[in-house]
Amino acid sequence: MTIYNFSAGPAVLPKPVLEKAQEELVNYKSSQMSVMELSHRSVLFDEIIKNAEKLLRELMDIPENYKVLFLQGGASLQFTMIPLNLAQGKKALYVNTGAWAKKAISAAKQIEDVEVEVIALSEDKNFTYIPKITKDMVDQDAAYLHITTNETIGGIRYTDIPDTGDVPLIADMSSNILANDYKVSDFGLIYAGAQKNIGPAGLTVVIIREDLIKEGQNIPPMLDYSVLAANDSMYNTPPTYAIYIAGLVFEWLKDLGGLDEILKQDQEKAQLLYDYIDSTDFYISPVAKEDRSITNVPFITGDDELDKKFNSEAKAYGFENLKGHRSVGGMRASLYNAFPKEGVEELVKFMKNFEEENK
Ligand code: PMP
Repeated sequence: MTIYNFSAGPAVLPKPVLEKAQEELVNYKSSQMSVMELSHRSVLFDEIIKNAEKLLRELMDIPENYKVLFLQGGASLQFTMIPLNLAQGKKALYVNTGAWAKKAISAAKQIEDVEVEVIALSEDKNFTYIPKITKDMVDQDAAYLHITTNETIGGIRYTDIPDTGDVPLIADMSSNILANDYKVSDFGLIYAGAQKNIGPAGLTVVIIREDLIKEGQNIPPMLDYSVLAANDSMYNTPPTYAIYIAGLVFEWLKDLGGLDEILKQDQEKAQLLYDYIDSTDFYISPVAKEDRSITNVPFITGDDELDKKFNSEAKAYGFENLKGHRSVGGMRASLYNAFPKEGVEELVKFMKNFEEENK
């Protein structure tokens, strides 16, 4: 039985990356040491981290006036670091598009000296669409506007990035980084937990425009972008092995033809599934068509018992982690870059059979 891993994260990694890591596991470049055993100050690791950064810059076309940081603490720690570093004594604007935006908002509210304002939300339709943001909605005195470019649980994503004027746009891109055609220069700061579309858990990527890095703010060092940036992500020991794997993933993406090519593949994969869902009344995609995510595709039958049956048969068939998030139920297929197209074809085949047997 072939196993397909539909996990929303930690998620499937490219087979060639895992094989390369296996090949190099106990003896990295004739060092007779594993990458896990290398000092983060060694020449070999210096090469690894510099190469990972170089490849990410190439893939995302990151302008020179942006700093790339390889941090820890997950995307969740960024929910706190962003207001702490960027908005003290100021107003911070947020768009509430669902579960992850809400977490970012509630973390920001805990920073004493920051005034949080939610300028748009899609709660009226249970967070199934992306609200339209126009420039006149953005207070030009605010420290930033925060958006979640892809809601991993809700399955919605921004296709158009809002124009915020001079106010920096901050993006939680955890679940669609490297699977979009956004321009880095439209953002002041982008962050993402690695465990979906970059590499293993334990690494958080932050891409920050240099003018937003402020020194002397009396912030504890591990939470202070200026300290982390001045030390090139090595104020403390960085997650060395996760950075190594991320570098291999970036290389794999580059060899595939870069983001244009992978985006084409991602769109094809998602389309296969959405086309089938749209062709039948048996399955429902609960989100607005124009805002559908291509990396996280939730769907339901509309009957909880039937969803349960679907999930149990799907697991027996070899589909891992297809069950929807515990907060919403139903099913969710996460189709990140490394997820193979054959897996989507198999899923559609399975869905057709299940429909035949249960309609
Ligand atoms: N933001 C989004 C959009 C996510 O999907 C997740 C994780 N599922 C997080 C933030 C939190 O990430 P982490 O677990 O790395 O803190």
